Formats: sequence, structure tokens, C-alpha cells
Amino acid sequence: MAIHSFDAVILGGGAAGLMCAIEAGQRGRRVAVLERGDRPGKKILISGGGRCNFTNIHCKPENFISSNPHFARSALARYTPSDFVALVEKHGIRYHEKKLGQFFCDRSARDILGMLEAECDAVGARIVTSAKVQEVTRTTEFVVRTENEEFHANVLVVATGGLSIPKIGATSLGYDLARQFGLKICDPRPGLVSLLFTSEERSRYCDLTGISTEVVAACDGQRFREKMLITHRGLSGPAILQVSSYWEQPHPVQIDLAPERQITAAFSDPQTPRTVGVLRSELRKVLPSRLADRWLDTHPPASWTNHSLSELEREIHAWAITPTGTEGYEKAEVTVGGVDTDELSPKTMETRRVPCLFFIGEVVDVTGHLGGFNFQWAWASGAAAGRAL
Ligand SMILES: Cc1cc2nc3c(=O)[nH]c(=O)nc-3n(C[C@H](O)[C@H](O)[C@H](O)COP(=O)(O)OP(=O)(O)OC[C@H]3O[C@@H](n4cnc5c(N)ncnc54)[C@H](O)[C@@H]3O)c2cc1C
Repeated sequence: MAIHSFDAVILGGGAAGLMCAIEAGQRGRRVAVLERGDRPGKKILISGGGRCNFTNIHCKPENFISSNPHFARSALARYTPSDFVALVEKHGIRYHEKKLGQFFCDRSARDILGMLEAECDAVGARIVTSAKVQEVTRTTEFVVRTENEEFHANVLVVATGGLSIPKIGATSLGYDLARQFGLKICDPRPGLVSLLFTSEERSRYCDLTGISTEVVAACDGQRFREKMLITHRGLSGPAILQVSSYWEQPHPVQIDLAPERQITAAFSDPQTPRTVGVLRSELRKVLPSRLADRWLDTHPPASWTNHSLSELEREIHAWAITPTGTEGYEKAEVTVGGVDTDELSPKTMETRRVPCLFFIGEVVDVTGHLGGFNFQWAWASGAAAGRAL
């Protein structure tokens, strides 16, 4: 069995692991990145529809979900979106702001991965692919055993990501190691994921698959004004993905289908006839026609009294659905929960109980909103650890 010695071994060659390797390598550390896949950064390649929404220029701690909402502050402040943009510009990668501060590559996510690999190369960080970790032990140093090699290092960084998208290589190794070393974990669950209708709602709405409209979706005190999309199994689109990260059974999700609009305003004019025809045309001004018609079919006014009309108005601004579940890790963009932040130093990501053991990126209980925040957390937490090695 071949034995290799490094200053630090990083498990997982995703966004956080590669950034950590670059920062540590720049400080002269000899690092190895052990990646299970046949190439690093596969999630980067599929991100942002192949264009990688690599950061969000308006990134704030409020854009992250964690049991400790203050934890991410320090790392985010010390490696900012501008720091990453500077790296992107150094490599001549063209990018644009799509909306709401979201920065995407003009060409391809391959540019971002190529940049990270080139930076790793420049600092001599070794990336070992197809590394199947069998066992991690610690005596005087950490020993990571793969099928036919052993990697020894004083420092171990766990950057194995979350459980989302198992078919491109997600595993539970990070959580398993946290447990092995006695660290607490906040229960993981899929986030940024489509929500599933009940069978009754499915039969009411799912033939409208593909229809989208701007809504305000709310759950657990959080509100997101963005598009909602009807799918063949439930609801998706950015507004729904955002609230899904806050949603837990059996809570409802509230949807305002007509934000800041008043559907029944026309009826305050006594000249306006109180008919289904008028109501339909008012609804169609706000919602896509087929959805407007379906809403009217399923929520007809009980009568034409002012009270009934205001009830109809109330319902359209507070459509409460109680999802039966989510599309799960197969489809989720992220994993909410993870290694409890109480276990980690917010400055360095080193565990408090086990010196020289670090956790970074998505495996930690810090989850970003949709819009480039998850990569910014991966870069920032990776840099925080890399500078401390
Ligand atoms: C479809 C999709 C699109 C996304 N788009 C965006 C976006 O545009 N913007 C954004 O900010 N976020 C996006 N995300 C989220 C973002 O990709 C992740 O939050 C980010 O990649 C997390 O970085 P990480 O390094 O912690 O984990 P990962 O990037 O998942 O890297 C973990 C690495 O560890 C490896 N690994 C796992 N288990 C083992 C093991 N046992 N041994 C060795 N290696 C192992 C994996 O193969 C992987 O390479 C998207 C996610 C998905 C699924």
C-alpha cells in the first residue's frame, strides 16, 4: 500500500474543497484533495443551468439559514463576493449579472471549474480523483485509507458537501465522520426543492403544468416574491424553491397569487356588474388565463355580497397549501442542516473538540438562499479554513 504524507488532506473536491486547497497552497501548505468522482467539481458544472451562478453581489448573513444565524458572518466578511469576482476577472472569465445581484458566467460553468483547477495547479495542490475513502483514523495524525493508498496529514478538512443529487456523487461521508468524532449534527433535509401537492390538489391543478406566475410565497416567517411554476407533481419555481428550505411537515406554505393587486377593486364601482364574466376578466389581468379560469372554477364566489367578494380577495392572497413532501435529495439543490455550527470556530471552521479537524461548505449547517449564495458560502468557508491551515 502506497503511503503519502501531506500537511493537510481535504476530503471532497467540490467548490469548498478546491477553494480551501488554493488558499492553503498559497500559504505554502502541501495539500491533497481526495475526490470520489472521476473528476472534481461536478456540481459546479451542472450549476446555474450550466452557467454557474457563482456568487451574489448582495450577499448578506440574512441570506443564510442556520441554527446559529450569526455563525456565517465572520467567514462571509473575510472572503466577499468581490474577492471571488476579482479571481474570475484575473482569469479573464466573462460574466454578467442576471437579476437580483446574481452573477453568472457568460459562457459556461466549465470556466469556473477550469479556473479553480488552474489555481490548484499553480500552488501545487494535488487532486486525487476516484479516491474511495474506506476509513479515517486519528492517532498522532489523521490517516485516510483509500482502496490502495494511505494519506497521512496533521490536518483533515471535510468538504464532502450535502446529500443532494446522489447520482453525481453525493455521499454521507461528512456526516459519518462528524458522528465518528462525536460532533453534533442538525438533522439534514432537502432544500431548494419542489414541493408536492396532495392528490386532490394534483387533480385540480397539475394539468396546468408549465404555467408560471409571480407570487409571494411565505413559510416560517420568510417571504419570497418571485415566480412560481406549476409542475406535474406540485409547485416549483424560484419562490417555491426558496420557501422549501424553510418548510417542514406539517406546516402550510402560504401563497399570495396576486401580490399588491386587488382583484375585486372594479366592483367598488356601483356601475360594474357583479358577474362571473367581469370577475374572470379581472383575474385574467393578474394571472395567466388558464390559471385564472381554474382558480375561479375551484374558488367561485359564494355570492356577490361585499363580504363574499372580500372573502374571494382574501383567498387569492393567502392560498394555503400543505405539501405532502418534497421531490427529495434526487432533485434538491442543497441540503439544509448539517454539522452543528456550535462545534466549529466561525473564524477558521476548525472543530472545537478535535483540533486540526475542519468542516467547510454545504456539510456545515449553513444553507444559502437561491441566487449564488451557496457558492459564496463554499468559497468563504473554504477560504477561512485554507488560511488557517
Ligand atoms: C443542480 C444544482 C444547481 C446548483 N446551482 C447553484 C448555483 O448556480 N449557485 C449556487 O450558489 N449554488 C448552486 N447549487 C448549490 C451548490 O452547488 C452547492 O451548495 C455547492 O457546490 C456546495 O459546495 P461543497 O464544496 O460544500 O459541496 P460539493 O460542491 O457538493 O462538493 C463535494 C464534493 O465531495 C465529493 N464527495 C462526496 N462524498 C465523497 C466521499 N465519500 N469521498 C470523496 N469525495 C466525496 C463529491 O463528489 C463532490 O465533488 C446548485 C446545486 C445543484 C444540485
